[in-house]
Order: sequence, then C-alpha cells, then structure tokens
Amino acid sequence: MEKTEKVTMEKIQSLAKQRGFIYPSSEIYGGFANTWDFGPLGIELKNNIKKLWWQHFVQERMDMVGLDSAIILNPKVWEASGHVGGFADALVDCLNCKLRFRADHLVEDTTGEDVEGKSLEEISRIIQKDKIACPNCKSINWTDARSFGLMFKTYIGVVEDTKSAAYLRPETAQGIFVNFKNVLASTRKRIPFGIGQIGKAFRNEVTPGNFVFRTREFEQMEIEYFINPKDWEKSFEFWLKEMQRFAKAIGLKDEDIYLHEIPAEKRAHYSKRTIDVEFKYPFGTKELWGLAYRTDYDLSHHEKASGEDIVYVDPVTNQKFIPHVIEPTFGVERTMLVALLSAYEEEEIGSGDKIEIRTVLKLPKELAPYKIAILPLSKNEDLISKAKEVFDLLKTSYMCDYDETQSIGKRYRRQDEIGTPYCVTIDFNTLKDNAVTVRDRDTMKQDRVGIGSLKEYLGEKFC
Ligand code: ATP
Repeated sequence: MEKTEKVTMEKIQSLAKQRGFIYPSSEIYGGFANTWDFGPLGIELKNNIKKLWWQHFVQERMDMVGLDSAIILNPKVWEASGHVGGFADALVDCLNCKLRFRADHLVEDTTGEDVEGKSLEEISRIIQKDKIACPNCKSINWTDARSFGLMFKTYIGVVEDTKSAAYLRPETAQGIFVNFKNVLASTRKRIPFGIGQIGKAFRNEVTPGNFVFRTREFEQMEIEYFINPKDWEKSFEFWLKEMQRFAKAIGLKDEDIYLHEIPAEKRAHYSKRTIDVEFKYPFGTKELWGLAYRTDYDLSHHEKASGEDIVYVDPVTNQKFIPHVIEPTFGVERTMLVALLSAYEEEEIGSGDKIEIRTVLKLPKELAPYKIAILPLSKNEDLISKAKEVFDLLKTSYMCDYDETQSIGKRYRRQDEIGTPYCVTIDFNTLKDNAVTVRDRDTMKQDRVGIGSLKEYLGEKFC
C-alpha cells in the first residue's frame, strides 16, 4: 500500500460534508458565515474526543474532579476577570471596500511581523509605514486601529438596559474559578488538585475562518489545576507532558506539533508563562491548545470583587495562600480538525491495471465514529435477518453502522473513508457455518470468525 497525495483543507472539508461529519450551518437559508453544524458522524467524533479527554484528565486521576457551570454567569464575574473592556481585538476598516480586518492578522499575513502586545497606535503606525494594502481591493486607505470587544452581550428579562446586560462566556475557565470554594468545601480534595470542565464558549471573532479552526461558537475542554505557588514550574512541566500524551492518544504525529514558548511581552496579562501547542495545519502553523501559568490572578481578583475569603489553609503546614493555577486548555473543534487531518490518508492499492486509490481515515479506535459496520452481502432476506441478529449482539457494546446498499467493495470503501475500524460481513456461508468475515480497516486483512466467539474476538481488538 503506497501513500499518495497530501491532505488539504479542501479534501477534509469535502469529506466532512459528504460523509456527515460537518455541514455548513443553516445551509437551506444560504448558510451563516463561519458557523458549522455537526452531522451524525461529527457528533460521534466530537463525543469520542470529549470522552477520551475526560477519561485521561478526570476519570484516571485522583487529583481531578469535573464541573459543568452556567454559560451566562453573573456579569460581575467578567468585570473581575478583566474581560469586560479588556477582552478585545484590534480592528481596522478599509475605507474603500468597507471590509473589516483584524489588524494583527493583517500585519502578520503581509509582513510576517508579530504585533501581539503592541498598542493600537503602534499597530496603526506599522500599517501606514509598511503601506499594507487591503487584501480584498488592494487600496491603502485604512481607519485607525481600534478595539473591538469579543464578548457576546445579551439581556436578561424583558428590558434591554445596562442593568440587565449579561454575557455569553468567552471561556469556561471563569466558571471554574467562581466554584473553587464550593468544590473545595464539598469534596475532600486538597491542593494540589484540579477541576476539569467541557462546554461551549462564544467569541465575536472579527475574522473567523479556516473551516472549524476559528468560529464564533465553539467548545473548550479546560483544566484549572490549583497549586502552591512554590510548585508552579514542576506542575507546568507535568501538564505539558500530559498534553503531549493526549496528542499521541488522538493520533497526532510528533512532527506536526510545535511547542511555542510565548515571550513575556506577548503573553496574556494574567500569565507568567505560556506555551502554545501549535499544529502544522495546511494553512500554516497555528495554535491548537494552550498551557498557561495564570498565577493567582483570577482567584485574587474574584476575592477582591466578591468580598469572599478564598484563602487556602494547608492542612499540614498551616500555610495560608491564594492558590495559583496552571491551565491546560483545549478547543474541541480544533482537536477534531487535527484528528481528521492526521488520520486522512490516500493509498494506492491493487496492481497492474487494477490500481485504485482508497481514502482511509486512520483514526485511533477510540475516536472512530462507528466502531463496527455490519454488512449483509446482499439484500437476501435470510442474510438481512442474520445481519440484524449480529447488530443486536454488538449494539450494547459498540456504536455500529448497518448498511445493505451497493456492492460490498463500495461499502468497504465508504467505511474506510469514515474510519470504521472493522467491517463484519454476513454472506451465504454464514447461513451454513454461523461465521462472519471481519475486515480490518488498516491492513484490509480478513478473518473468518464464528458468531459465537465474535464478541470475544472484537473485545480483544478494542482493548
Ligand atoms: P487564538 O490565538 O487562536 O485566537 P486564543 O489564544 O485566543 O486562540 P485561548 O483563549 O487560549 O485561545 O482558548 C483556548 C483554546 O480554545 C484554544 O487553544 C483553541 O483550541 C480554542 N479556541 C479559541 N478560540 C477559538 C475559536 N474562535 N474557534 C475555535 N476554537 C477556539
């Protein structure tokens, strides 16, 4: 089997739509810019990513617990965290064609200069000095860079006034910080321990794009790991390794990952050290996940703003301190995108004039939307009824697909394309010997297995 061409965004996007992973949202109304819906396979893949993450970072750890906090929190949370007013991007408008751009992206894409951390005035000056042209109409006629708040505002109740204004959360982290005391009081956890949360976050991104890489609505999987400040370096290194372990588990290749140490002047205001885990996407090397040492910035600010005492007393040493925090954060959709990009392969199979290209998603088994496809060789009634028996036998243990249309060869190709690790074929011999053919996605090897021992056979394959 020879590997052929490289994966592109077009190939992934087309496969995702055709096979039911990701559709453009509200498509019958002409779509809705940069908004995506997850189809029957997309929801399985997404759930499997979240399940695997939870298993790695919560279930398998004695020092972690979970949480599911509200999306619309008390607006005071966002004032204390610095998001109201502070969580913004620099924007410029082209006065000629009226299109709007993120100023930092504009500079970076044209000159390669990274302007993170620079003031609005400085960015405007760079745009002028370098005579950066509008990517759309090529004119050089910009407004000054100005700040654009990224939080979605909404109103609670019937009156739209400043008192009733609230926000859709732009990160899940703050829901964890405001529950720190509750979790400490209601569990027997002591520092160091962490809280994990998976949930939706919303950002009014100015220039979303690159498929599901940057959207306005997305899911995050976040950990806030509470520590004694003296342990921050050790803990930071530990969580970096854990993130790398998770990257392996979802099938990412070492050579596609780049650890980007963010220099002090470019870090978020709350961070004393940040490493972006970047991925070599077809459109460039960009952030996949982040790891930050958030110090005690958030808990201290919430303590001040709420008046609640958040001081932790070490039960052994009696030392009193506000816990510091290491934050590993992961975007679900970006994880989904890199899992698809990493799994996609086109292989040349056959020989002589019978060479064909098979597309196969070599997803780790835990992530595969369907674990097993059950395929009666033809629409013969006896085969169908036997195939349904096999479906019933396996359905409680595995997410199974059932397909009786088209030739068996075409059905195998279809299952390869959606990453199903095993196909179970019921043929006319099955009616005589009560055995089925199990085909392996990656090797395409086939085994004949008695239905009586099928569960055990598959159990070994999936363990
Ligand atoms: P970027 O620099 O790409 O805007 P960020 O540094 O603002 O990302 P964080 O605030 O660290 O991102 O968010 C944590 C994670 O959430 C990111 O590592 C990424 O996986 C995901 N994420 C952030 N913004 C988006 C978005 N607009 N669409 C999809 N995923 C996102």
